[in-house]
Amino acid sequence: MKKKRIDIITLGCSKNLVDSERLMKRMSDIGYEVAHDSDKVCGEIVVINTCGFIGDAKEESINTILEYVEAKKEGKLKYLFVMGCLSERYFDDLKIEIPEVDKFYGKFNWDKLITDLQTITPDTKVYDRILTTPPHYTYIKISEGCNRFCAFCAIPLITGRHTSRTIEEISDEVKMLVGRGVKEFNIIAQDLSSYGIDIYGEMKLAALLDTIAQIDGVEWIRLHYAYPAQFPYDILPIMNKHNNICKYLDIALQHISDTVLSNMRRHINKEGTIKLIKTLRESVPGIHIRTTLMVGFPGEGENEYNELLSFVKEAKFDRMGAFAYCEEEDTFAAKNYTDSIPDEVKQERLTTLMETQETIALELNENKIGKSLKVIVDREEDDFYIGRTEFDSPEVDPEVLIKKDKKLEIGNFYNIKIIDALPFELIGTLNE
Ligand code: SF4
Repeated sequence: MKKKRIDIITLGCSKNLVDSERLMKRMSDIGYEVAHDSDKVCGEIVVINTCGFIGDAKEESINTILEYVEAKKEGKLKYLFVMGCLSERYFDDLKIEIPEVDKFYGKFNWDKLITDLQTITPDTKVYDRILTTPPHYTYIKISEGCNRFCAFCAIPLITGRHTSRTIEEISDEVKMLVGRGVKEFNIIAQDLSSYGIDIYGEMKLAALLDTIAQIDGVEWIRLHYAYPAQFPYDILPIMNKHNNICKYLDIALQHISDTVLSNMRRHINKEGTIKLIKTLRESVPGIHIRTTLMVGFPGEGENEYNELLSFVKEAKFDRMGAFAYCEEEDTFAAKNYTDSIPDEVKQERLTTLMETQETIALELNENKIGKSLKVIVDREEDDFYIGRTEFDSPEVDPEVLIKKDKKLEIGNFYNIKIIDALPFELIGTLNE
């Protein structure tokens, strides 16, 4: 007999999404009907998976909890549970401040929610989950936590020490998902570079990639969130060895000025960073690098900012995101530096940086006009099919707008000829 419906609401990043997917699978296995991020929450039970990364994310999480507290008061739901990063970080405060929530769980003990709801079906794999992404792609979380302790970052305070999963378990998960029709695997971790060191005594990302690239049915593997210091260079020949490892690397560099990098406690300097980018590009021809940068960190004067701007102009990143520094409590930076750069200055620097990148992105996209690229189709809209090349990660990177000359299947790969380019989109047509 089907039990009650549970609505799960996921806030924050793709790592949280994977936790929600696992939770949903476990709930489904014990007989609940589960809905994710539904427009119309109509279950008797609501679970909010919160984010505690930065101020805006925390505010969104709190507002969402309060919204459902109100719904509960109005009798629209019976039980409200909260889990995830915000809940891990402010567990004691939240319990006192929002007593209407039936129970809070942290980032790692949400399993307890299952035992609280019912007894777990014994043979459910710990990594099994219900996918909320389109069925052809997914995220694979290969480790939790981070040991780097960058000065600005609260993640290690929330997620704890870096803990890798075994190559065997990850391979089993990938095989299971291939069996369900997944073709594209976006590998994620807080610190991809350190994969394996805690359980194997050495970095093992290359061995992991070599193993999963050989699983039949894995069409694309994409790498997210490498750390630049102690970069695992042995992955580069593996990226060349397997056609199904996308020539793509997401690596947050944060800054280029030696002063700022040192203040950020990033364990790498300008010279090391430039050498790393050169090696990546020389070793893996055509690699697309995605990076994230931060402006307005303590120690960033006009000179340091201009150094960053020049670096962006010279490095010509294929994809780039940037943020203005926002002090996070309990971090090294909050305890040891003064956040003295005015918000207007931070915003001005951010805008200039992003405008510079827009020009670069357009120039790089225009170089693709006339080329034929392998594209996966994600969805259909009124005038176009929307797809991505191996150089585009879901949600964050440019998309390919494919003219609707012919019927295409969602989730299939096609050869698309690029006929036009915008800074953050390509226009293409089916190449026959
Ligand atoms: S490596 Fe990433 S997750 Fe780890 S402390 Fe630095 S910014 Fe935070």
